[in-house]
Amino acid sequence: MSIGALYVHVPFCARKCSYCDFASEATRADDPRMDGYLDERIAELDRCRGLGMLGSCKTAYLGGGTPTFLGAARLGTLASRIRTSCPNLTEFSCEANPDSLTEKVIATLRDAGVTRISIGVQSLDDEELRCLGRIHTADQARACVTVAVTAGLNVSVDLMCAIPRQTDESWQQTLHEVIALGVGHVSVYPLAIEEGTPFGKRYGDDTPPWNDEDVQARRMECAERLLAAADLIRYEVASYARDGRQCAHNIAYWTGVPYLGLGPGAASMLDAPTYEVARDLFDWLPPRPHDASRMRFSTLDAEVEFLSAREAWAEDLMLGMRLTRGIEEGRLEAVPDTRDDLLARGLVERAGGRLVPTHDGWLLGNELFAALWDCR
Ligand code: SF4
Repeated sequence: MSIGALYVHVPFCARKCSYCDFASEATRADDPRMDGYLDERIAELDRCRGLGMLGSCKTAYLGGGTPTFLGAARLGTLASRIRTSCPNLTEFSCEANPDSLTEKVIATLRDAGVTRISIGVQSLDDEELRCLGRIHTADQARACVTVAVTAGLNVSVDLMCAIPRQTDESWQQTLHEVIALGVGHVSVYPLAIEEGTPFGKRYGDDTPPWNDEDVQARRMECAERLLAAADLIRYEVASYARDGRQCAHNIAYWTGVPYLGLGPGAASMLDAPTYEVARDLFDWLPPRPHDASRMRFSTLDAEVEFLSAREAWAEDLMLGMRLTRGIEEGRLEAVPDTRDDLLARGLVERAGGRLVPTHDGWLLGNELFAALWDCR
């Protein structure tokens, strides 16, 4: 019975961004529900610890929403409790937004044992930020990244491409500036227009020119080129890091490590023995069918997906291909037709006993992942 990674979801934001379909709610900074939220998470952490679920946990991630919107006092309490509940953590990340990542919050997080801050910068152009519905300015982002780097934290920034008003030049400018700020990790995502969001309502099924596939591919390629030149090396579809700064928590997700999610919009993936223990924690979890070896569920919809051993194996293959290091070739020995087909289509190539995604494999990721999932 073990989990390797813990995720704690904070569902509050200062304002909803125009593209966001994450489980988060815009509210006031003095919303009294935040105190209730804190009490619930602390009670859950205590129960998890009492059930012996956290002793093997190596990484923790406070995500959102906007964890820093909780403010220094609440966030410090929550982070400290996570740190003491998981005595063997080697990495502890917290997501942050520039409008609420003050010097005080940074110092509080560091003192509470947080080792890594992931900052939602998205762009360093004020007009682009405004179009996204972000409430921070480029100067706020520059300032808080600088303070976090100076504080000695492992700093990651999230950037978004193929967004309104963005040009090839403004994208390069954002990348150059982020590199110059000295961050150790960058995540780069093309904007996805999701149903139900203000962008989804405005554009429907029409793809605006600033978001079309060619623009997305060009911006992602530009990011890879500029970041690589600065020793920020791509190690996953959307993730770049300096040596030793890769996100161990996210790598756990992509390598089949069981993880537990706490909070209103958190996902969990557990093996059979840990699921049995988790049923003491979440009384809505149904009994496990005898042939299920992996369980996935989210506290948001309270639905459980039961995977057989074969499905869990196929899922691991698929997730492993998100990483530049790919998977050991031997793991596809049981499905030689799939292996040969992926090689013939140029979606993967051999490298030192492994199968790794090619450039086409990155661009046609959905085809690659679907072929591996079909092996189940
Ligand atoms: S800050 Fe993040 S979670 Fe909150 S609304 Fe914006 S994108 Fe969504």
